[in-house]
Formats: sequence, C-alpha cells, structure tokens
Amino acid sequence: MKAVTYQGRKKVEVKEVRDPGLENKDDILVRITTTAICGSDLHIYHGLIPGMYDDYVIGHEPMGIVEEVGPDVTRVKKGDRVIIPFNVSCGQCFFCQNHMESQCDNSNDNRDTGGYLGYSDTYGGFMGGQAELLRVPYGNFMPFVVPKEAELEDEQILFLSDIMPTAFWGVDHAGVKKGDTVVILGCGPVGLLAQKFAWKKGAKRVIAVDSIDYRLEHAKKHNHVETYNFEAIKDLDKHLLELTKGGADVVIDCVGLDAKRTPMEKIETTLKLQGGSLGAFEMAANIVRKFGTISVVGVYGLTYNMFPFGHLFERNITLKMGQAPVIHYMPELFKWVQSGEIDATDIITHRLPISEAERAYRIFDDKDDHCIKVVLKP
Ligand code: NAD
Ligand code: ZN
Repeated sequence: MKAVTYQGRKKVEVKEVRDPGLENKDDILVRITTTAICGSDLHIYHGLIPGMYDDYVIGHEPMGIVEEVGPDVTRVKKGDRVIIPFNVSCGQCFFCQNHMESQCDNSNDNRDTGGYLGYSDTYGGFMGGQAELLRVPYGNFMPFVVPKEAELEDEQILFLSDIMPTAFWGVDHAGVKKGDTVVILGCGPVGLLAQKFAWKKGAKRVIAVDSIDYRLEHAKKHNHVETYNFEAIKDLDKHLLELTKGGADVVIDCVGLDAKRTPMEKIETTLKLQGGSLGAFEMAANIVRKFGTISVVGVYGLTYNMFPFGHLFERNITLKMGQAPVIHYMPELFKWVQSGEIDATDIITHRLPISEAERAYRIFDDKDDHCIKVVLKP
C-alpha cells in the first residue's frame, strides 16, 4: 500500500510499504477514505518526537471503511464506515473506564504515557493512518461507527478523530462557563475550533492571538472573535491585562512547542535542561487572572526549567493539560455535527491526494498559500 513515511527531520516520503494485517483477535483493518495532517504531525516533522525512525507510517486523523475484522470483534463488521480516534484505548482498564482514554494502561508498554496512532515508539509504536490501510487495535472499543442513515460527507466528521474533541475538551475541562472572558492562543485548526466551542459554552468575550494575519482574519470572519497579532503589538500581554481588567478567566494554549519560532539549537538546549523560552505558555501565565485557569492543549513534550511556578502559585492559577481523551466526546460531538450545531469544514483549505503528502506537509508547515488544514485522500 501507499503510505506517508517519516524519513528524518523535515522529510516525509510517500512510499510503497507492506500492507498491515490483523495481529490480535480484536484488531480491525480499515481502508482509509479520508485523513488529515495535524499540528501534532508537525512536531514529528520537526524531529521533536523521540522514538521515530525511517519508514515509520505517520498519521492519526483517519476514517474509512472496515475491510477485515478479527475473530473476537463484535462491534463492527466489514463494510462499516468508521472514524478512528487518535488515542489507542482498550476500553477495559481503569483509565478507559473513567473517561481518561488518552492514558489507557494497555496502549503502551511504557505506561508513563498513553499510546497514539502513528506517533512513534515512545507512544506505543502503532503505525499511522496517512495510508491506504490501517490496523486498529481494540476493535470492540476504538472505532466510532457512523450510522448508515447519516448523510454526512467525510469532511464533516473527519475531525471527530482528533481536533474537534481536542478543542472541545480544552474548553470543557477548563470549565469555561457563561459570562467568561476566554483568551485562545493560536489560530491553527485546534485554536479555531476552540473559539467556536468557547462561544458554545457561553463565553461573553473570546479573544484570539496569533501572528499570522490570514489565520487571524479567518478567526474574525468565521468565529467573530477579537483578534490580536502578538508580533505586531508590543507587550501584548500587558495590553490584554488592561483590556480584560485584570486578566482572562480562562486562557487556552493551542500552540505548544512552535519549532518555527524556536530555533532548533534552542530546542536542543532546552532538551538538555539548560533553559529556553516557553513561548505561548509564558503569555498564558501572564494574562490569566488571579484564580483563573490555563488549559494547555498544545503539545509541549519537553522538559523546561523556565517554568514560571512561583508566578502561577502566587496567583492561585489552575493548570490543566494533556492529550485529549477524544473517544469520550465523539458521540456527543457527532450529534452536534449532525444537527448542524457545529461545523468545522471552514478550516479546510487544502485537499490533496496522499501521493502529494510531501508538498502538503511543506505547505502546512510553512503556512503557505493561506493554509489552515490539509485533508489527504488516499
Ligand atoms: P498549527 O501549527 O497549525 O497552529 C499553531 C498556531 O499557533 C499557528 O497558527 C502559529 O502561528 C500560532 N502560534 C505560534 N506561537 C504562538 C504564540 N506564542 N502565541 C499565539 N499563537 C502562536 O497546529 P494545530 O493543528 O492548530 O495544533 C495546535 C497544537 O495542538 C499543536 O501543538 C498540536 O500538537 C496540539 N494538539 C494537541 C492535542 C491534544 O490532545 N492535546 C490534539 C491535537 C493537537
Ligand atoms: Zn492530531
């Protein structure tokens, strides 16, 4: 089959690789119909995820048609249309049973972290979904089966695999409520969707920050938020503090590590625990109000020794973070999509065949051609 493979820093290659097969009795095999590139894939692309190696198949936002099921699978059958969440989860362990599927104990031999599809040996070693075929473990728990009668295009529901539940969770577990002022850092796909959900939760004011003008314009046009360019406005954090009269109730960091603005030497130094800037997180810490909440959805994944512990402690800040347990939110959000209450298709700017994945990664990484989200078709 054709698949998008990692080939070292800033190199992906579409290659002919061996078809995956069923390995466990409850595995399923899915023929991918649509998939996407995630901001998290850029961390891989930038060589920041340990445990990647050449020819590793990337991708964790897939959907498709069930091609084959193992003998123990009862939940789905050949021909079913399924959306696959990025978190590998068994459905049986303490974490899965308590809606913390992103930390499933049976998804990674290294139990320090959950396992994710297409995200290196560090995160379970599962091959990814930017491919023609995908092996999905735990076929009785992981796949979300799209009801036959649902008249929805792939693009309307694809993002249930990751960024839609992720954005919702970022808002939900931060406890955004009616009347809140919410600042959302980053106007990538995740930030843009978080803006929509912040309104849904009843926020009275939603402020978006980025430095890419076309993304800020998109946020203003589609989500009716106030927008600020942190590169154009000097001391934006001070400005936002004044504007919000003491800080935001909730700040959602939808950026994480930005390899574009953090020179590689600095990232490497940071990795060696010798310092480094926290970028967006630093701003979050500066603009949250006393007793406010910071919700970190952007992936950091490194050790920092510049963490503003005292600054947060002194002001009673609540900090929430991590990989979203997306499975838990898929059914509810599916209904929202079906009823038209939420529509995420405005963020799709590029549709490319998987054979053009190299170009797709370049465009998404360079924020070229007004790119926001790239959808790939095998
Ligand atoms: P993206 O790279 O398209 O978007 C990031 C945006 O942040 C860019 O528009 C960039 O210009 C902007 N930015 C950079 N530095 C900034 C700063 N200091 N302040 C404000 N904005 C800044 O990526 P995406 O697809 O939107 O994903 C965003 C983050 O969410 C990534 O780190 C990704 O790994 C992470 N993510 C996490 C989960 C989870 O479960 N926690 C799931 C999916 C994605
Ligand atoms: Zn993702």
